[in-house]
Amino acid sequence: MSMGLTRYGKAALMLAVICSPLQARRLPAQIPAPEPEEHIPAMPDRLPPRALEQVAAYTAENSDGHGFVTAKNLAWSQPYVKVSFEAVPGQDLSAYYPLIEATAKEWIPKGTRFALSFRNDDGTYRTWTRGDQWPAGVIRVAFEHKGSWSLVGKQAIGRDVRPGEATMNLDLGPVLKPVSGSPAPYFAGVDRLTVLHEFGHALGLAHEHYHGQCQADLKFDADPGYVQTVVPGTESAPQFKPDAQGRSPGIMRAMAGSPNFWDPRTIRLNYDWNAYSRDTGLRMENVLRASQGGAAQDAGFVQSSVIDRSSVMLYSIPSFLLKSGKQSQCRFVAMPGIVSLSPMDRQAFASLYPPSE
Ligand SMILES: [Zn+2]
Repeated sequence: MSMGLTRYGKAALMLAVICSPLQARRLPAQIPAPEPEEHIPAMPDRLPPRALEQVAAYTAENSDGHGFVTAKNLAWSQPYVKVSFEAVPGQDLSAYYPLIEATAKEWIPKGTRFALSFRNDDGTYRTWTRGDQWPAGVIRVAFEHKGSWSLVGKQAIGRDVRPGEATMNLDLGPVLKPVSGSPAPYFAGVDRLTVLHEFGHALGLAHEHYHGQCQADLKFDADPGYVQTVVPGTESAPQFKPDAQGRSPGIMRAMAGSPNFWDPRTIRLNYDWNAYSRDTGLRMENVLRASQGGAAQDAGFVQSSVIDRSSVMLYSIPSFLLKSGKQSQCRFVAMPGIVSLSPMDRQAFASLYPPSE
């Protein structure tokens, strides 16, 4: 989880998208297929309390006195940063290193004056251990089964972060299980999304659902009269869903259940920008400006047009946890094909790490 800032450049790109010729073709009338029932997906993040302390400490040290840490100064300013993987005794995860490296590097287009370096001079992957006195890379990836998270950009070099501590955790879950009959390691779907999402944080990007309009649409509390209703078959580890009257369990109850099992603070920090901002001292000037009508209003579009619905930094939130339901502009729309960065994700990255002239 975590945050950062940024997303400027998105409004301009949206303009380009909207101005492309409209498809005037009329589709034949069809009976719409019934939509599949929505379930609560496993969310990518679970920022541990220790990481939160580090974020708050970074903010205190680097703010301008008003608690502001902007996107520009969370993004890396050096030409490259070193990434290393935790070497865990008795556990060889090296088969996954090239997959993670390749996936993370999808953020960085050719010609960018910034690189992620995963390897030593001899081509071997860089590793770190908990006993390190000197950081073996500024982004230190651990593989604990405790949920994934990442510090945001330069928070990883905050004074409170020790050389023998992770700055990111990738809980790859199913990735680590052998897939019978498959010669290749399993690495797709939610796990690919997790790597893209956490490296997005590590590069300085915030959650897309911290966008002001999205925030206003989140349904934190259960609808009045909600009768606790669970998805059949999940009784031992309940996954909540709307009741027979369609009343919502709300985010606070839904995320406390399967498959996330978050405590209330984790839920607030991952969903509620105000809670995150309060606990860390961070502000998100650019996102708020956009949602309050800055670029979007200038362009004459409704404010919601600046939410990137295909961003890997946007949680896939079921419509029953959104006040405007299926109409919500915060609903995730997957890119076609495999999980990948959206055009606006790429634009957001380019705004922080401009291509060379
Ligand atoms: Zn996150």
